[in-house]
Amino acid sequence: MSTKIVIIGSGIAGISAAEAARQQNLRAEIVLISEENDLPYYRLRLCEAIADPKALDALTIETQAHYDALNISVKLGQTVKAIDRLGKKISLTDGHEEAYDRLVLATGSSSFVPPLEGVQRPGVKTLWTLENVRQLTAELKPGHQVVVIGGGLLGLLAADHIQQRGAEATVLELSSRLLANQLDAVGSAIFQASAEKRGIHFALGAETAEIVGQYDEPHAPVAGVRLKDGRLIEADLVLLSIGVRANSQLAAAAGLPITRRIVTDLQMRTIDPDIFAAGDAAEPDEYWFGLWPVAMDQGRVAGTNAAGGDAIFAKNIPPYFIQTLGTEVAVQGDKGGPGEFEADIDVEQDPMRGTYRKLVYRGGVLCGFMLVGDTSEMLTLQKKIGKRRGESV
Ligand SMILES: Cc1cc2nc3c(=O)[nH]c(=O)nc-3n(C[C@H](O)[C@H](O)[C@H](O)COP(=O)(O)OP(=O)(O)OC[C@H]3O[C@@H](n4cnc5c(N)ncnc54)[C@H](O)[C@@H]3O)c2cc1C
Repeated sequence: MSTKIVIIGSGIAGISAAEAARQQNLRAEIVLISEENDLPYYRLRLCEAIADPKALDALTIETQAHYDALNISVKLGQTVKAIDRLGKKISLTDGHEEAYDRLVLATGSSSFVPPLEGVQRPGVKTLWTLENVRQLTAELKPGHQVVVIGGGLLGLLAADHIQQRGAEATVLELSSRLLANQLDAVGSAIFQASAEKRGIHFALGAETAEIVGQYDEPHAPVAGVRLKDGRLIEADLVLLSIGVRANSQLAAAAGLPITRRIVTDLQMRTIDPDIFAAGDAAEPDEYWFGLWPVAMDQGRVAGTNAAGGDAIFAKNIPPYFIQTLGTEVAVQGDKGGPGEFEADIDVEQDPMRGTYRKLVYRGGVLCGFMLVGDTSEMLTLQKKIGKRRGESV
């Protein structure tokens, strides 16, 4: 009898797992289940469709024919509600059950919705799924004022595309500067100046108190965001972008160890030898980066191993890279703070061109870099990390 592999989640981790499992085992029965109604799509390009809703269709990764050709059964619009580890089956919210020999949990993340007064108001949006973008673009009109709560990667990408749609975006960021975890104060200032040239407004050190309505009813449409310092920023729409939470509840309810995510080894196997996890929802050996290429690699490893292979996930630290708002940022490694060896720092900056280049050496060895405005050196610098100054790569 052939092995039956069931994969929960059709994000990049799930489809990579399905395709790798097929490559490993030509006879396995492979079932991919997703609560979304859309065929797998490029989630990381979702913002393109904010600027141009016609771009939505172009986000689909492969047509149904691709999955048919690989004999992967894709079941859309179906939510898994429980895992029965003893019975080796899962149950769906529609009452159906699906038996498995091997299970891959690729359940990813969901937008975090904070317990803020007013979050339920019409006009308050999140951004993680294609359906979220459909809902946002159905209401977003040129000339609208949009407040984006959260100045991380997603918030900045969204603000840029909202602006390209002819609306006006204001980004609220809790920290006193942009990309405070990635850049130093000079890098942040240069990045912000470039972003402001695009017409985006920023409110820094901005703590949201409540989302206010057009009149005093809990379900009155949104009218703006009140900050804790009393300021009111008017809005036709509000986009919540203050982080994501891993969808690990299914695994937790099945008794699998969870930190904030599903704990696995580097083969992406949980403590149950027949259950694997991959992508944003997984944490192999305390490693987590909520990134597309990481989810893809982990999916491949989980799928290969679920199908009887022997793959290992390699824990590389990826660079932080963002290309938006008319500029780009690449950061990797040491930022030059206090350390065992004193940091020797090379800095070049050109505020007129909006460029900043910072290289951090310790003991003569390159330990990190920060590039704003021009990231053309990123690949070369990545290869130079760990090498002595002047050493060729
Ligand atoms: C707008 C945006 C821009 C981004 N930009 C970048 C970028 O520039 N670079 C980068 O590296 N990353 C980027 N990311 C992050 C990247 O998209 C994620 O890291 C990646 O999609 C994670 O893939 P995943 O398969 O682990 O999870 P997800 O993509 O979250 O997919 C999980 C799937 O599982 C389904 N699911 C969950 N629970 C169940 C259940 N119980 N039953 C059935 N189905 C279920 C979900 O509906 C979903 O379809 C971006 C993300 C967004 C939203």
